[in-house]
Amino acid sequence: MLLNLLGCREIINDLQGYYLSALSHIIIINISLYLNRMKKIVFIVGGAGYIGSHMAKHAALAGYDVVVLDNLSTGHKDAVKYGKFELCDIKDKTKLDALFKKYQPDAVMHFSAYSIVSESVVDPYKYYDNNVSGTLNLLKTMLDNHCNNVIFSSTAAVFGNPEYVPIDEEHIKKPINPYGRSKLMVEQILEDFSQAYNLKYLVFRYFNAAGHDVDGELSERHDPETHLLPLIMQAARGDRKNIAIFGTDYDTKDGTCIRDYIHVDDLCAAHLNGLNVFFNVGKEVHSNDFNLGNGSGFSVKEVISKVKELTNKDFTVVERERRSGDPAVLIASNIKASKILNFTPNKSKIEDIIKSLI
Ligand code: UDP
Repeated sequence: MLLNLLGCREIINDLQGYYLSALSHIIIINISLYLNRMKKIVFIVGGAGYIGSHMAKHAALAGYDVVVLDNLSTGHKDAVKYGKFELCDIKDKTKLDALFKKYQPDAVMHFSAYSIVSESVVDPYKYYDNNVSGTLNLLKTMLDNHCNNVIFSSTAAVFGNPEYVPIDEEHIKKPINPYGRSKLMVEQILEDFSQAYNLKYLVFRYFNAAGHDVDGELSERHDPETHLLPLIMQAARGDRKNIAIFGTDYDTKDGTCIRDYIHVDDLCAAHLNGLNVFFNVGKEVHSNDFNLGNGSGFSVKEVISKVKELTNKDFTVVERERRSGDPAVLIASNIKASKILNFTPNKSKIEDIIKSLI
């Protein structure tokens, strides 16, 4: 009898030990779930592309839980070096819904768009279908899933031919091609959605995004490549036989177009500041729009000679007709972004941008 009782006590002790250790496991699991939940989850839509892949890196290094969504139509799977990857087209509402339920993101950064002006002129359906309908789909899925924070990548192309420079946010918006119009439509949709559904948005209008991350881990890979700086670098490396200047009769100091080049890392830093605005508890978030540029302009000829100087390489330059849809000068005023977002483009000296590409 006594032996039996002693046996029971041992069993009870064992059980107590077991329950205590199970309980501590449950507590630990719950604390880690809670801490994980504290880590904000950010969807980077279009995160396999040039700016999106840099953004995924910046956001992950800043401590966000990153999920990249991309249909890989222009992006590259091997550019997704940070965060999880989900193959998804923004026009696929069922898949989007499933992903929003699976991850419950706190914010979305939307980079997923077609962006070649000349292509938008010959195939506007492609642009309105993806850039406008696709974005509507994404926004509806966000609202259906109670995700109310979005940063939208817009463009200087919403302004059309500028009436003055530097271009501030108040400048009239009269895009001159379907690409610019598709972006302006989304800007207007965001404004309406914020009034009606309490969606919080930040519109970031990029001027000429350029450069690579300083570690050289990521790059700009468009196919076909149409942007000036990557093409000049190809010429400098001997990968193309020349560089063409599209138009030498513009009303500018040397007749070639002037653009405001902004380093991709500076753009990403602005996005991180944007996320801070969303997640800064207690601070009223106002939906807002910002022009992101470095505030000074360089002509095509100036950029070419800077590359020659910094690479110490000579290459052939040919003069061609103007490319349709190119405004003579695009320079951003970044005063609003610096005041409100603390935006400081400190990697965007043209020399630094070019050096990051060498
Ligand atoms: N450009 C050029 N040769 C090229 C590519 C571009 O002269 O091979 C010019 C283009 O006409 C524009 C400027 O370089 O004036 C910047 O063009 P990009 O396509 O890089 O950017 P965009 O300003 O069109 O967004």
